[in-house]
Amino acid sequence: MTINGKTRLTGLIGNPVEHTLSPVIHNGISDKMDIDCVYVPFKVETEGLDSAIKGAYELNVLGMNVTVPHKNDVIASLVGIDDCAKHIGAVNTLVRDEEKGGYVGYNTDMLGLRRQIHEDGINLNGRTVVILGAGGAAKAVVYMCLLDGADKVYLLNRTLDKAQKIADDMNKLAKDGAIAGANNCSAVIPCSIGDYADIRENNLIVFQATSIGLFPNVDSCVIEDDSFYDKVEIGVDLIYNPAETKFMQIVKAHGGKAYNALKMLLYQGVIAYELWHKVTVDNDILEDIYVELKRRVYPKDNIVLIGFMGSGKTTFGKAIAEKLSMKFFDTDEYIEQRENMTIKEIFATKGEEGFRQIETDVLRELANTLDGCVVSTGGGMPLRIENARLLKEIGKVIYLNVATQVIYERVKEDGKRPLLQVEDPYGRICEMMTERKPLYERACDVIFDANCNDPEVIWTSLKNDGII
Ligand code: NDP
Repeated sequence: MTINGKTRLTGLIGNPVEHTLSPVIHNGISDKMDIDCVYVPFKVETEGLDSAIKGAYELNVLGMNVTVPHKNDVIASLVGIDDCAKHIGAVNTLVRDEEKGGYVGYNTDMLGLRRQIHEDGINLNGRTVVILGAGGAAKAVVYMCLLDGADKVYLLNRTLDKAQKIADDMNKLAKDGAIAGANNCSAVIPCSIGDYADIRENNLIVFQATSIGLFPNVDSCVIEDDSFYDKVEIGVDLIYNPAETKFMQIVKAHGGKAYNALKMLLYQGVIAYELWHKVTVDNDILEDIYVELKRRVYPKDNIVLIGFMGSGKTTFGKAIAEKLSMKFFDTDEYIEQRENMTIKEIFATKGEEGFRQIETDVLRELANTLDGCVVSTGGGMPLRIENARLLKEIGKVIYLNVATQVIYERVKEDGKRPLLQVEDPYGRICEMMTERKPLYERACDVIFDANCNDPEVIWTSLKNDGII
């Protein structure tokens, strides 16, 4: 984007802020919605917090996110606070209020997690919930549980006092009628972490809200006892790095469903964005931003080649793999082995739609497993938007762009291409190219001219262009 006189500013206040992923969310949405705004992280020391907030307002900053360690202290510098943020005692989003002459505080962390679990079909109403941890995040989770009508909330923490304090605060709010969905005033039960065996209920919904298991300490989990997990139906880990924490692994091993909370991170940002810009961000954009977040948090070392049949995905792919000492992986070959049928047979028995579905299933699997590979994909693979996103999760996507005539010359003798078994294959290629070119362009990170037939020349240009 080009910054001009009308460009608005939003940002993040915290310390440290260097590793924040919020710019991916906010600048990504502005870019996709063509909204003239930039989002910048600001490192602010505690002593400077109040002047930073007042200064931001005077500088006409549209809105701010607030992160550790300022989520509580920032409240003193605001002109207003949303009820839910007030009850949780933490603010992560500041919305400009011209009439009041300052910022009003919101807690979109809680709203983000709530949106995530609702989307995953997790209904807390009438349920027994266990929350592991009693830090800032856990408090927001307790509030969410009461708001959504949970029957009982066991709050387990290493330091019992902290769990006790949150339980007292939240039970009091429930008693005072301050939380709409709360239906009993002693729902929150504080416990020491070691008291998990005293929980008698089954089908528990558990939120893991400690920092145990966070990368790089991926082999630890706050409770490891199998007897606890036998009672767990759903586990949500607020940690999103690694993608599957030890806690999630144990929940799954005991037959439960497990989720990480990367979507919480996405949605807290999206909800803040919507409050600032008074827009609704549509799902397609959310999906794209989510892929971008996953690429940042779980980077994979793969190169994915897409393009029409005959564009050189296999020939050039093998050459590139050899040059880079990477493995070569052909999705069509993999599908043939997996289905124990040739592509032609799959088309004949399951139709094109059946084949496309197999491609999607395979990509989902590969997005979790493939690393260090040059991947050659089927020509139609990126046509589904879902597949296009999965390909980006797998690695850097290069579209090998080749002229129609060159394609025709490369494939005209090849009888294995089911889609070209027609009277006028050249006409068919032209038709398909017109249809597919924009979809390849949408699906890729880079468009590369691959008209040359010499793999050595292709390799040199890819290197010289800084693509690989
Ligand atoms: P806090 O520092 O406020 O709380 C940390 C919690 O972890 C406390 O309950 C603490 O217990 C517990 N804990 C830490 N070390 C141990 C240990 N060795 N044994 C037992 N318990 C321990 O952090 P937050 O509440 O802000 O964050 C908690 C987690 O949630 C983090 O991992 C964070 O990454 C994640 N998070 C994810 C978000 C998302 O968008 N997905 C948003 C916010 C947080 P004690 O009180 O005894 O010290």
